[in-house]
Amino acid sequence: MRTVKRVFCACVFILSYICILSYICVAGSANSSEADRVIQAALQPSPLEMNLHRLTDEIGGRVPGTLAMQHAVAWGVQAFTAAGADSVHTEAFTIPYSWSEGDTAMTATTAYQVDATKLGGGTVLSSFRVRAVSVAWAPALAPVKHIPIVDVGDGTAADFKKAGDISGKLILVHTVVLKTWDDLFAEYAKAPPVIDLAVKGKAKAVAFMATRDHDILYRHTNSAAGEIDRLPMVLVAREDGERMARLLAAGNSVWADLSIPNQIGGPIKSANVVAEIRGSERPDEFVILGAHLDSWELGTGALDNGCNAALVVDALRAIKASGVKPRRTIRFILFSGEEQGLIGSHAYAVAHRAELDKAAGVIVYDSGTGRTTGFSIGGRKDFLATAKNLVAPLAQFDVKNVKLDMEWGTDHFDFMLEGVPTFVADQDEANYLENYHAVSDTYDKVDFAQLKKHVAEAAALSVELADLPEKIGPRLTHEQIEQAMRETNSVDMLKADGIWDDWVSGKRGREK
Ligand SMILES: [Zn+2]
Repeated sequence: MRTVKRVFCACVFILSYICILSYICVAGSANSSEADRVIQAALQPSPLEMNLHRLTDEIGGRVPGTLAMQHAVAWGVQAFTAAGADSVHTEAFTIPYSWSEGDTAMTATTAYQVDATKLGGGTVLSSFRVRAVSVAWAPALAPVKHIPIVDVGDGTAADFKKAGDISGKLILVHTVVLKTWDDLFAEYAKAPPVIDLAVKGKAKAVAFMATRDHDILYRHTNSAAGEIDRLPMVLVAREDGERMARLLAAGNSVWADLSIPNQIGGPIKSANVVAEIRGSERPDEFVILGAHLDSWELGTGALDNGCNAALVVDALRAIKASGVKPRRTIRFILFSGEEQGLIGSHAYAVAHRAELDKAAGVIVYDSGTGRTTGFSIGGRKDFLATAKNLVAPLAQFDVKNVKLDMEWGTDHFDFMLEGVPTFVADQDEANYLENYHAVSDTYDKVDFAQLKKHVAEAAALSVELADLPEKIGPRLTHEQIEQAMRETNSVDMLKADGIWDDWVSGKRGREK
């Protein structure tokens, strides 16, 4: 998963000028020659392509609780070991439910009038198969026939009111074609209120139109943390959804036969894979370079996020190959359970809370292979100037921007809420969104020339953070983190994502 809410602080521009002065003061503090050595090592031929081939083509899609996920964890251990890690281990955590899709089937039927005498005339029934998949972590639906379909437009409260009685019916929800990161954020934000209204109106099930053209289906979830959702839900091919909508708009009745035989089980164990290069001077302090290893399974999870799991492994290899010995420890972590709600990284942050004062930065990649444009640093204006300095050697790859944005939707999130300095790679959309969680997210979509550059960036930034004379910034207190949320206008984002209440109560993030 990777959803992004861009937030801009009004004082960024003022800060930028202050930072020019600070930049001059701190320039030179990072050892750019070591960064260059790491970059050169990263750009050499490596097992990057073969590692990703094994993870995607051989193992395939990786949903926690499946054999493929177990094999992916074993892949991570083996790949880190082969890359030269000083140590490799796994850390287990629990996901509350297992979930897998059965043979979801949907047929739509409509009636139309034929008045040509030669054809007999009268009312004719016409059926067509609807290409549909279950929404992930949604409940099963036993086969039902002849459910009336109701179009609820965009699914606003006004749309539902206009649609009238939805009790016992399948509601069809319109969407817009996904083009930008903001569209993706909107897609996630839109679903919970629609589900609220569907539950309230006692709908039988929900059918969301796909946000991609050309019959592309993808795995979506509206469940926040691995819980089973409230209603059966399907995602239908955009072309089929639009056809049903046109029929309904023209006054035809449309019914569905629908079967969603999802398999749901009890708690499951999954695991994060953790490798280390031990620090030469301050081994108890650590930088984390992370990416999630799990994926959805309609495709093979190549752009999301196999390529970046392979990047993390290759960054370790590159640092070792460069001969550079980082002063602090670098932990290379492949998280699991990300797609079910950042469950693996949240579990890691909680399990390691007692040592997070020693965390010297968390870097995360989770946006396919679109060009990295910069990094978002989670509202941390205290180290904006130093971060710009660290990114300077990456200008050769067009990595230039350091933004204060606090983002949700990938594995830095719980570290950010714990007050740890975080760096999320901001990337061009490239081909990420059209293939996002989709049948088409496969190895052939990966831009390896670009991915090699990202290995270089990630390895260099990890070493730079590990080598700074002092950690780039302190661990913030609860109050300081909340201040950063307000300064970056992130409170509404956290509310929309259903996280704000848990933050305020202290259930999630740094304790008060
Ligand atoms: Zn992802």
